[in-house]
Amino acid sequence: MNSRNEALFQRAQRTTPGGVNSPVRAFRSVGGAPRFLARAEGARVWDADGKDYIDYVGSWGPAIAGHAHPAIVEAVREAATRGLSFGAPTEAEVDMAELLCELLPSVDMVRLVSSGTEATMSAIRLARGFTGRDAIVKFEGCYHGHADSLLVKAGSGLLTFGNPSSGGVPADFAKHTIVLDYNDLAGVEEVFQARGHEIAAIIVEPVAGNMNLIKPAPGFLEGLRRLCTEHDAVLIFDEVMTGFRVGPLGAQGLYGITPDLTTLGKVIGGGMPVGAFGGRRDIMEKVAPLGAVYQAGTLSGSPVAVAAGLASLRLTREPGFYEGITAHTRRLTEGLAAAAREAGVTFSADAVGGMFGVYFSAAVPASFADVMASDRERFNRFFHAMLDAGHYFAPSAFEAGFVSAAHGEAEIDATVEAARKVFAGLAA
Ligand code: PMP
Repeated sequence: MNSRNEALFQRAQRTTPGGVNSPVRAFRSVGGAPRFLARAEGARVWDADGKDYIDYVGSWGPAIAGHAHPAIVEAVREAATRGLSFGAPTEAEVDMAELLCELLPSVDMVRLVSSGTEATMSAIRLARGFTGRDAIVKFEGCYHGHADSLLVKAGSGLLTFGNPSSGGVPADFAKHTIVLDYNDLAGVEEVFQARGHEIAAIIVEPVAGNMNLIKPAPGFLEGLRRLCTEHDAVLIFDEVMTGFRVGPLGAQGLYGITPDLTTLGKVIGGGMPVGAFGGRRDIMEKVAPLGAVYQAGTLSGSPVAVAAGLASLRLTREPGFYEGITAHTRRLTEGLAAAAREAGVTFSADAVGGMFGVYFSAAVPASFADVMASDRERFNRFFHAMLDAGHYFAPSAFEAGFVSAAHGEAEIDATVEAARKVFAGLAA
């Protein structure tokens, strides 16, 4: 085992719960000590022992241009020399808001925050304030950050550790969260028939990425749009993960659906803490100081973070950016699936833009139940063997993977080649 990683993990556990500042980092479900990362560049990360890995986590999505991209690092350096934070508006925030409104036609106005959690928490409060209703609909296995109302049958770390609903959430809050099955439109229709007048919002990951990757079934997102319109509920697309990840216009552009509110994070911060929520003008005008829905932040719109985000978004707008990332992600998933087939290992894989899923199941899952039926023990063996070989996948069978613009054919092919040997070992 890696000596410095181990030592750091021992040290960390004495002063930090589980030794980590976000649960899935702890490698609990796959076992072993997490790699403490010392630096990253392009498609690679280096751990505390100096071992390098081709990285398919990408800071869980933000690193779409590759780690430490020179243009983003320079933007950060330049902004930092002019002051780290003012608590007053800046021109860069106007640039960012205008860019987001231009890129996402559903967004007339936007408010910047510092994380995806803040974005979704604020969007839910806004939807409730706008409609005067308390109930919200979410889907089992979707993760929308860790605000109380949203930690009910949630995905990501909650699924990884088998505790889909968090302790510390009062039942009085959770009772306003109606949890339904992803891709089951009939179930949503039924609930709206009975309780449509109580429902403030549907919040949905338009491509689910926190129970591994699950695509929306044909008609699912369209149906949610229709039901929200019919019942005057707010449709919230949580694009914290999918925004500028699955394509240049996010999932809403890819599937051609117009949500009322959109939440963003990850890519729009380029690796720095930025989130955003935005959408219809008549809804956004309810946000303080224009309206009665309060929302604020000391570091919201941080000049350094916004500089990183703007630089990141500008890189994604270069010609061919999404074509390249989409092709390389496909090359990875098709390569892995072919290698598994040759070895006779039950496996499937899928991708949307620069986001992918790998599944130890015969077919690509279409529902939460399908994902839960996949072979988690095999995933864990795959994960560790790949890690040993220098390929860093997400340390859980319930997370999506990410490819960056710095992953070229050489990196992808090296990973597929390593997987070929790993699958042969799994079959033996
Ligand atoms: N929504 C989605 C869809 C996410 O994937 C995440 C984080 N993985 C969040 C919200 C929360 O974002 P953050 O971790 O920045 O608070």
